[in-house]
Amino acid sequence: MNVTESSAQRGPVLIVGGGLVGASLAIALDAAGIAALLVEAAPPRAAAQPSYDERNLALARATVNGLEAIGVWRHAQAGATAIEHIHVSRAGEFGSVRLQARDAGVDALGWTLPARELGAALLRRLDECTRLQRLAPATLEAVEPQVGGWRAQVRTAEGLRSIDTPLLVGADGTDSFVRERLGIAADMHDYEQTLFVCTVTPERGHGHRAYERFSDEGPIALLPLADRRCGLVLTVPAEQAAAVAAMDDDAYLALAQRRFGWRLGRLARPGRRYPYAIRRVAAARLTAPRAVLVGNAAQTVHPIGAQGFNLGLRDALTLAELVARAEDPGEARLLAAYAARRAPDREGTMAMSHGLVRLACLPQPALAPLRSLALLACDRVAPLKDVLLRHGMGFRGTPPQAVLERTP
Ligand SMILES: Cc1cc2nc3c(=O)[nH]c(=O)nc-3n(C[C@H](O)[C@H](O)[C@H](O)COP(=O)(O)OP(=O)(O)OC[C@H]3O[C@@H](n4cnc5c(N)ncnc54)[C@H](O)[C@@H]3O)c2cc1C
Repeated sequence: MNVTESSAQRGPVLIVGGGLVGASLAIALDAAGIAALLVEAAPPRAAAQPSYDERNLALARATVNGLEAIGVWRHAQAGATAIEHIHVSRAGEFGSVRLQARDAGVDALGWTLPARELGAALLRRLDECTRLQRLAPATLEAVEPQVGGWRAQVRTAEGLRSIDTPLLVGADGTDSFVRERLGIAADMHDYEQTLFVCTVTPERGHGHRAYERFSDEGPIALLPLADRRCGLVLTVPAEQAAAVAAMDDDAYLALAQRRFGWRLGRLARPGRRYPYAIRRVAAARLTAPRAVLVGNAAQTVHPIGAQGFNLGLRDALTLAELVARAEDPGEARLLAAYAARRAPDREGTMAMSHGLVRLACLPQPALAPLRSLALLACDRVAPLKDVLLRHGMGFRGTPPQAVLERTP
């Protein structure tokens, strides 16, 4: 049987995956009075959720506006650190880009927050939802098409449960089971890089500055955190990952210092190191009849540009906005509008993240003068800088209403 458009089947919007994006979508739908059911494989504790971990998220200004609008930020803001300046440079080349909050007339371009703290805030906010149903731990095992929707088989501690839905949402991450069951192809690229995340304390205060520094060996980023600490993100070729993981703290700090330089003085007191293998995954389509993909299930980008969650939240809030206005949450018109609204932001952000890795990390000496010129141009040419500032703050394409600035 095929999924048909007419006569929506009864039942809640079914969100598969309660990671950072799926949980945000569930909250936004609940706030809009839409009946939804969230199915998450991990138990409902921040420590159990795979992506509520030690990665430090750079949240764009638009993202924080969105989290505020759905009532999450008040649970998270105490742990967040403002990013007032961004400094992008490349080792051994002249030219750099410096973005400043004051150039945009705002107090902060974004905020840094450990993912575990955002996860805890999402869980607190989920507990406040009134219409939302949650199943966790519970795993989607199968979906079959029905007239006007889908029938999902979900494995819970009590056994297999059948759930009918007029709209199936795949928020189940990079290796999305929903995407695969919908027959949506995905373009995958293994960067053959491993990214290490830890915290360090630099000799000099970070001054609310986020640094991104490229070199032939790969990029390194330093994000401002509370108590003078910084989140250090260091990328190495995959074949060096085992050796880097085995380094003692002194050797690791020496590597980080060589890559980052001495802008903040000596780097000290490294915390525990967490490794991540890096892939790019792009779904060929965002929708299927009465089904839609959001977040990493739709696109997984290189963390170098700090865009994954920022982009995924805009997916979630755009979908919630459209569903809130529609009679039937899975109607073809709504899904077409969703795909059209998300396309410019999605394509632009994916191209930017991928282009950044290619241009900035690959050892191509012939490109060096061009790269320096590009960095200089971005820094000095006002219209270019304005676009960078706007995009850096997460305002791309036609953003969802929830992320726009609100006047008090
Ligand atoms: C090191 C690192 C640093 C990053 N830094 C930034 C940053 O600075 N800024 C930024 O914006 N982004 C950043 N990102 C990206 C960001 O973390 C991701 O984009 C975001 O976590 C994606 O969320 P998601 O909910 O789409 O997917 P996930 O977090 O992967 O969640 C998917 C969820 O689905 C569940 N699931 C899977 N299959 C099933 C099933 N069959 N049934 C039920 N549940 C299922 C999983 O348990 C999981 O909880 C970073 C990523 C990394 C790795």
